[in-house]
Amino acid sequence: MTDILVIGGGIIGLSTAIALSQRGAKVTIVERDICGKGATWAAAGMLAPEAECLEGSLLEFGLRSREMYPQWISSLMRLSGLDCGYWCCGIIAPIFSERDRLVLSQHPKYIDKSQSHQRQSGLGDSILGSLWLPEDGQVSNRKLAQALITAARALSIKILEGVTVYEIARDRDRVTHLETSAGKLQSDRYVLATGAWTRSLLALPIKPIKGQMLSVFDGDRKLQKVIYAPNCYIVPRQDGTIVIGATVEDKGFAQGNTGAGIAQLLNNAIAVYPAIADMPITETWWGFRPHAPNEIPILGVSDYENLILATGHYRNGILFAPITAKCVTDLIVDGIVDPMLSF
Ligand SMILES: Cc1cc2nc3c(=O)[nH]c(=O)nc-3n(C[C@H](O)[C@H](O)[C@H](O)COP(=O)(O)OP(=O)(O)OC[C@H]3O[C@@H](n4cnc5c(N)ncnc54)[C@H](O)[C@@H]3O)c2cc1C
Repeated sequence: MTDILVIGGGIIGLSTAIALSQRGAKVTIVERDICGKGATWAAAGMLAPEAECLEGSLLEFGLRSREMYPQWISSLMRLSGLDCGYWCCGIIAPIFSERDRLVLSQHPKYIDKSQSHQRQSGLGDSILGSLWLPEDGQVSNRKLAQALITAARALSIKILEGVTVYEIARDRDRVTHLETSAGKLQSDRYVLATGAWTRSLLALPIKPIKGQMLSVFDGDRKLQKVIYAPNCYIVPRQDGTIVIGATVEDKGFAQGNTGAGIAQLLNNAIAVYPAIADMPITETWWGFRPHAPNEIPILGVSDYENLILATGHYRNGILFAPITAKCVTDLIVDGIVDPMLSF
């Protein structure tokens, strides 16, 4: 018997399981594959509420989560003994048209062309100015996933990998058990954190939005800031890997990289940071963002009293993980409904 069953072992399921366990709950994670291999593995790891131009309560949600990051990472590093590649390196959001430059020159974070080149050498000539967002940054999402898994194990969270949930069995307004590839699983409460695949278990308006990505290797390590351009972003890791993303494709769960997708990313990235043209390509991959209406995560209570929702984080699930884990845990353990849960 376990107090809480978390369905889905991505960043949202893992972070929530850890927060619940730290508040004394006995938690099990059910993951049909290997934890951290869904969108969590595919992401770029930007922590970018400002560069992403989030608005209103969603911006507040993102800013609060970004603020939580340093302490959250320290605690995960203590628990796991692993580095997470957290780097508050700042983001440059370049401007390419005179029209945008005129509008954005009023923005408090605007810097002109020469200031942009001073911030980061080697930017493309077509950049007319940029926004400099020093508090946005990045984390190595794959390293973070490993740290979360190790921390979860250190907290004695039971992780059932290779177990698919086929059905959330319900009786009136309660979940009674899960039908899974390992038989029936039962618990007091359930947290649904199945990302882009949520709809196969519950009729929620979540759909996959595919993103193709690639990485190159920068032996010189001269790129030290994330560059967030209108058609691509470029994320330098501290080990010299540069992650370039991402396409936005409404094509269901279509697998694989395409020539057009990778060509588009490379052409855009080379225009922004020309040195990329000579860097070796090290990897290509793709993933599925869990898109929810108005790009707002679906969090908190459901139609079933013992089923809590934590899904639909779309483009910002890496950023939103600490605040999601906290809000869902406060709701389950203390019954506190954070105003952030009702956007
Ligand atoms: C290309 C790309 C780039 C991105 N870049 C960024 C970024 O820079 N910054 C940012 O903040 N966010 C980014 N995101 C978004 C972020 O990755 C997601 O919002 C986040 O990973 C969602 O986490 P999750 O745990 O909900 O989903 P996932 O990581 O997809 O995890 C869901 C898990 O549920 C499991 N599962 C599903 N169905 C079942 C079932 N029936 N039974 C058992 N297990 C099941 C899956 O196997 C999976 O492991 C990006 C996403 C993509 C695809």
